[in-house]
Amino acid sequence: MVDKVIRLSKSCIGSAEKGAVMRVLDREYLGMGDEVRVFEAALSRFFDRPVRCVANGTAALQLAVEACGIGRGDEVLVPSLTYLASFQAISATGARPIACDVLEHDCLLDLDDAAKRMTTKTKAVMPVHYTGGVGDLAAVYQFAERYGLRVIEDAAHAFGSLCAGRRVGSFGDIACFSFDGIKNITSGEGGCIVTNDENVLRRVSDGRLLGVEKDTEKRYSGERSWSFDVAGQGWRFHMSNIMAAIGIEQLSRFDEFADKRRSFARQYDEVFADHDRIHALPRNYNEVVPHIFVVRVKGMIDREEKRARLLRKGIQTGVHYQPNHWLSFFQDDRQLPLSVTDALYPELLTLPLHADLSYDDVAYVAAELMKIV
Ligand SMILES: *Cc1c(COP(=O)(O)O)cnc(C)c1O
Repeated sequence: MVDKVIRLSKSCIGSAEKGAVMRVLDREYLGMGDEVRVFEAALSRFFDRPVRCVANGTAALQLAVEACGIGRGDEVLVPSLTYLASFQAISATGARPIACDVLEHDCLLDLDDAAKRMTTKTKAVMPVHYTGGVGDLAAVYQFAERYGLRVIEDAAHAFGSLCAGRRVGSFGDIACFSFDGIKNITSGEGGCIVTNDENVLRRVSDGRLLGVEKDTEKRYSGERSWSFDVAGQGWRFHMSNIMAAIGIEQLSRFDEFADKRRSFARQYDEVFADHDRIHALPRNYNEVVPHIFVVRVKGMIDREEKRARLLRKGIQTGVHYQPNHWLSFFQDDRQLPLSVTDALYPELLTLPLHADLSYDDVAYVAAELMKIV
């Protein structure tokens, strides 16, 4: 057993974040107010679009689906190979997540498969930007247009990624991001919704504050709503000043984080380039800011044993993700197979990637993996 453990993922927190939190604590206004307003404004400049901050990425997805008027009796197409959060966010609205297969080469939503799962109840498609790559997002939008669907991008992995030169979230229908502790930037927990749709923005603004109409404006001017109306179901999904204070500092450090994540991912790519069994996902790191680094180990049948061996060498690894259609809650009575997802999943392995790694760490991880594959 080695002393140092190379973590799979971690937050990267410095004195700026700590100072910012202390200033909020000293002012003793911890709820949703100035810092959230400032963080939202900074994110709006980043995306060049209106932004609404919420408690976490899952809440962002749920509020976005709800704000489209999607709920009980409706269906949303989503790749099975995603974090459980995408599925639970959809089902929290009363709608049904319909698990779709992914393309073998990039692990992103297979639109031909999704088309087979369309019914008259299908109202939206939720592409998941797995590892930070978006694949052929233009094709997703064409697909949605053809069938009259909303697009709610689960962009939790893709903060700062580009798509044909444009920042993910700066175009399209609705994009949802997560600022949980290990994402490309963090606000402790947190998330946001980015869209130009006025109706969605209004519903999200109210929905995050128990449905109280215009409570956001009140809080941003330092007031509170004592008499108000509520027109729909709402939640306590707002962001706190403590979270936003962290997020503001992290956003200002984003270029530093992005450079590091990209260069470590490029380093892995180079080492594995000629390997006959270890295949990195095809991602263009001039555009993609990688959130996780996933490899496919061809023919791997003993992943847990390999993970245990790597851990003994001080290397944490992960598995992203156990397919959601395997879960009893999300089983589909239509029983169309998801053969690519089923075949891919046992061969996927996630290697350490975060801004506090070193080139030596990455070289060591890659070398140890190659020894056992
Ligand atoms: C992190 C994540 C979410 C949810 O974000 P939280 O902030 O953890 O609620 C949703 N989808 C994917 C793919 C994620 O990785």
